[in-house]
Amino acid sequence: MDNTLTLIKTVYEINQLELVAAPQIILAGRSNVGKSSLINCLASRKKLAKISSTPGKTRSLNYYEVEPHGYYIVDLPGYGYAKCSKTERAKWGKLIDRYLQDNAYIAAAAVLLDSRLTPQKNDIEMISYFKHCNVPILPIMTKSDKTKQRERAKVQSQWEDILKVKPLCVSSKSGMNRTNLWNLLDRTAIP
Ligand code: GDP
Repeated sequence: MDNTLTLIKTVYEINQLELVAAPQIILAGRSNVGKSSLINCLASRKKLAKISSTPGKTRSLNYYEVEPHGYYIVDLPGYGYAKCSKTERAKWGKLIDRYLQDNAYIAAAAVLLDSRLTPQKNDIEMISYFKHCNVPILPIMTKSDKTKQRERAKVQSQWEDILKVKPLCVSSKSGMNRTNLWNLLDRTAIP
């Protein structure tokens, strides 16, 4: 049976945060990396997550429940906004800090990386931040349909050198590795 994905909760402010007592996998990535598309691809639904026409506009933590397993995918919207004030950025940082603080239910962070780009500074910064918080990293390379196999393998090995883990290459457009990604998420959340 296929997993189902349901948006359960959206959190905009620190005072709306409460500890969810079930395993959680963070989904993180720069705006425009293809995160909404990937959520929709995993859900096999077109409009579960809003595909951004204005990158970085929505600023909330979105909790998606995965059934039948009972864990959560927690969408942390894009970092690296071009058009966002310092105040907004600081507020967003505080919300993420608080979410991660003392949260023993976080199994890993699936970090989305654009398969067309060599390792970027802001991706590495985000990864360092998760590592600092003792959150294991699952690197996922998005938009793999847009790259040639050789080009992709090169970026994949650059990330592997940095992370010591080989990224999984996916495409929301073609469905490449969709089942493997679900298996990876299931295994990580429910060991
Ligand atoms: P988000 O900002 O990370 O949520 O990114 P979106 O899911 O909104 O995607 C940003 C843009 O990339 C949109 O125009 C998508 O149609 C496109 N996109 C996302 N995933 C893929 C993919 O796997 N393949 C291709 N070719 N385009 C994609």
